[in-house]
Amino acid sequence: AAKRLHGKTILITGASSGIGRSTALEFARTNPSGDLRLIITARRKESLEELAAQIRDETKDGVKVLPVQLDVSKAEEIRGFVGGLPEEWRDIHVLVNNAGLVKGVAKAPEIAEEDMNIMFTTNVTGLINMTQAILPIFQKRPDGGQGDIINIGSIAGREPYPGGSIYCATKAAVRSFTESLRKELIATRIRVIEVDPGQVQTEFSVVRFYGDKAKADAVYAGCDPLTPDDVAEVIVFAATRRENVVVADTLLYPNHQA
Ligand code: NDP
Repeated sequence: AAKRLHGKTILITGASSGIGRSTALEFARTNPSGDLRLIITARRKESLEELAAQIRDETKDGVKVLPVQLDVSKAEEIRGFVGGLPEEWRDIHVLVNNAGLVKGVAKAPEIAEEDMNIMFTTNVTGLINMTQAILPIFQKRPDGGQGDIINIGSIAGREPYPGGSIYCATKAAVRSFTESLRKELIATRIRVIEVDPGQVQTEFSVVRFYGDKAKADAVYAGCDPLTPDDVAEVIVFAATRRENVVVADTLLYPNHQA
């Protein structure tokens, strides 16, 4: 499987923590001495720099890493990002649309407008804008194009829960968009993949509770959630299948989750 990553450039959004960070490490560890390039993006530049240093160190510079500050909720930043990539980093083969967040727990009539907007512009518009920005790079390749778009959805997109209506709606939107795109691109060599995790312990709940770590930790007390590495392994598995194999849709539960 590792050789299928050889010579590839992989772009990950939301790589500064959690699943995105683990995914960058998992790609690097799968092909540490191959000609692999990783573009890691998020808003927190310092965390990206630290991750880049860790990957260079672990792989003895076998994997090339480019950390780029990018807020996917801002369409103009996405345009600037793509236009501003150095020549040797433009030949992207895999896009992992992972950046996403939940803000607040509130019944539908009480949801703050600001929270609603940030969830939609990040989880939905950001993912779509990234896809539209990168797809032409895939489509320029011969034979109808080649590349992988891997979208991170959620169990929340399939099983809505009270208090999470906006987040659930954003992830349902990701699911619909991903499925439409996959059907539009059938019979090309472009694979469209969705990975939907259940509960994963990351900074996700810290963000959900506006930085309240105690509340976030309480979410995971007494249960055994997925780790970000568990999800990263599935993402890298999907990206390293034989080209004709599309791991189109995967739902990952921790064993305790109903
Ligand atoms: P984390 O909070 O650890 O990671 C989220 C990442 O998204 C961070 O790197 C954050 O970086 C980035 N991000 C947030 N907003 C933006 C933005 N506007 N532009 C760019 N990057 C952004 O949580 P997870 O790793 O858990 O979340 C990753 C994905 O997994 C999300 O899409 C989430 O919805 C999904 N998911 C998570 C589950 C869970 O239980 N944890 C379950 C199911 C799905 P920064 O702040 O530096 O920008």
